[in-house]
Amino acid sequence: MNQKQITVTSPLLPPLDEFLPYLEDIWKRKWLTNNGHYHQMLEDALCEYLGVKYLSLFSNGTLALITALQAMRITGEVITTPYSFVATTHSLWWNGIKPVFVDVEPKYLNIDPQKIEAAITPKTTAIMAVHVYGNPCDVDAIQKIADTYGLKVIYDAAHAFGVRRDNESILNFGDMSILSFHATKVYNTIEGGAIICQDEKMKKRIDYLKNFGFADETTVVAPGINAKMNELQAAFGLLELKYVDAAIAERKAITKEYQEILQNVPGVKLIYEDERVQHAYPYFPILIHEDEYGLSREFVYSALKERNILSRRYFYPLISEFPTYKGLSSSAVDNLPIANIAAKEILCLPIYPGLGLDDVRMIANLIVDKIQ
Ligand SMILES: *Cc1c(COP(=O)(O)O)cnc(C)c1O
Repeated sequence: MNQKQITVTSPLLPPLDEFLPYLEDIWKRKWLTNNGHYHQMLEDALCEYLGVKYLSLFSNGTLALITALQAMRITGEVITTPYSFVATTHSLWWNGIKPVFVDVEPKYLNIDPQKIEAAITPKTTAIMAVHVYGNPCDVDAIQKIADTYGLKVIYDAAHAFGVRRDNESILNFGDMSILSFHATKVYNTIEGGAIICQDEKMKKRIDYLKNFGFADETTVVAPGINAKMNELQAAFGLLELKYVDAAIAERKAITKEYQEILQNVPGVKLIYEDERVQHAYPYFPILIHEDEYGLSREFVYSALKERNILSRRYFYPLISEFPTYKGLSSSAVDNLPIANIAAKEILCLPIYPGLGLDDVRMIANLIVDKIQ
């Protein structure tokens, strides 16, 4: 029995003593929110770090998703994936948009572009895709469909912080991308998020919308919301940025260790990254084929838990299985065969900066040895 608990993730926290001077400065400035000094600095710093042009900070990723749809006036039906965190589809629901689920492809578990066209109706206005586990969607195929049918493309890029393909930020594809800076993500601002868009006018509109719709003191351009990031979080984010590369390097080492030990285990499938992609290693997902491995995902999940190792069934259940969405015709299991199998087989193993490689080896060997 392993005494010390190993959690599936653990937040990246910069040294406290380095954060205190930021707090002292904020106290001096007496400017706590509403596009303050640190807010502006963080927007600039993130644009530079990520290699994007226009970025708007948010209080969390979900409000960024909801506001992105508002900003582009998306209505009617939106084609999306059931294999994501619930916030993806909830953002459609909060906008009165009907989600239309399309199955995922088996390699990366991202929305399958080949199945999108069949789901398009006269009411379809956009495609909302997710770069699951930070592996980029087939952005070229998705854009081609969007161009043909006149649809907008929004990427839930909550897992794709720092991800590049052929050295180009993956956030530069589609009309908008959304990031989450929640405590559990590769890069965090405790809670937080961002919208990345492609032009200055749109950034302006997004900035109005996240501040009640105010364009100036007396002009309200739309029924906006309050989704502003405050100065304490922005300062935290600036400091965090100094430590994120080292954190990603640790995540990479953990990933390589898991891959090394688990690569040839019959019935255990790994999701490898594309050679063109520079990754940030946000999760370590494995798929457990019960017939071949001999044990079910549920068994492995529980057996690890008994040994004080917390893995996560992420994503399970599918979004299409939750009561709000279950009644939609696109939620039918036979419309989503690959996503349904993945939800039954998926298990994300512990990965975070600070997790020792000896623990990684111990966990991976438990899986090799069928949790003996
Ligand atoms: C974390 C996450 C979100 C939600 O972000 P919050 O900042 O927690 O609101 C949305 N989509 C995906 C895919 C996520 O992983």
